[in-house]
Amino acid sequence: RAKSAGGNRFELADPEADARAITRHGLTTALPTALDRGEFFIEYQPLVHLGDGSVRGAEALVRWLHPQYGVLGPDRFIPLAEHTGLIVPLGRWVLEQSVRQAREWRERHGAGAADSLRINVNLSPCQLRHPGLVQDTVEILERVGVQPDVLCLELTESALIGADDDLLKPLRRLAEMGIDIALDDFGTGYSNLANLRRLPVSVLKLDRSFTQSMQQFPADPVDLKIVEGIVTLAHSLDLAVTVEGVETGAQAEQLRLLGCDTAQGWYYARPGPPERLHELALADATG
Ligand code: C2E
Ligand code: MG
Ligand code: MG
Ligand code: MG
Repeated sequence: RAKSAGGNRFELADPEADARAITRHGLTTALPTALDRGEFFIEYQPLVHLGDGSVRGAEALVRWLHPQYGVLGPDRFIPLAEHTGLIVPLGRWVLEQSVRQAREWRERHGAGAADSLRINVNLSPCQLRHPGLVQDTVEILERVGVQPDVLCLELTESALIGADDDLLKPLRRLAEMGIDIALDDFGTGYSNLANLRRLPVSVLKLDRSFTQSMQQFPADPVDLKIVEGIVTLAHSLDLAVTVEGVETGAQAEQLRLLGCDTAQGWYYARPGPPERLHELALADATG
């Protein structure tokens, strides 16, 4: 990458690419031990009922506090973790932390809406292919002492496109246990709608791109029709619809009018520490 320009001088052909390569190298060597060093942490983002504004749960989003680079988002290291296989132990860790957190929320808030708070945890396709998934999940729920209905596992639509029966079997087992399965980033893949019937999912998470197109009021009529169609289809198949990336009140209102059930986004709260959800759920329960 470095071009020799005579003598001891050299120029970087592409300084940005070089910086990226260095970063990648640093991440590759540091990642395998990051879990043991306790460098990962989880932020939680509330899921809010569009009808009454109550907090229904939260999505767990993993972060890496890298000793040199500071806080890194999952897009920076999840692909690497998938490539190296670390995603399996990392995913187990995220799952256990998250259900512990959910148990604490339920305990702290006792009866009322908070009683049924749920935790959404993302699963990568590698985790779905790992033969220990069902067993690990059962063990974690037992160890923590929570019912399976505390948990919703999110898989992207693209991870399940073309999934064969071998891949769907563990998912069906989890669904039969009472764990909710959500189809994440829905609408970005090929959206073979007929395929939906085959999948043991109970929630569609409409991708942020749809929410973005609801920025204008009134929104683009074609986008409105598409979302309306998805919601109608989802409800007719007994699936709940969650919307991602709600940043404005106008978006929330449009999506509520279109019949979406739950929303998530900066308009309600950014991903944050677990105490933040305590405050939100409590504010919700008392006022
Ligand atoms: P995702 O599951 O679709 O999560 C939603 C992403 O949208 C999160 O990004 C969240 O911070 C962001 N977001 C939430 N509200 C808004 C909003 O109003 N506006 C905008 N612009 N963005 C919003 P994040 O935390 O960077 O996570 C990115 C992806 O990384 C996640 O997408 C998920 O696929 C993956 N991921 C996160 N945690 C885990 C994990 O523990 N395991 C696995 N396998 N993947 C994870
Ligand atoms: Mg997700
Ligand atoms: Mg999503
Ligand atoms: Mg998304």
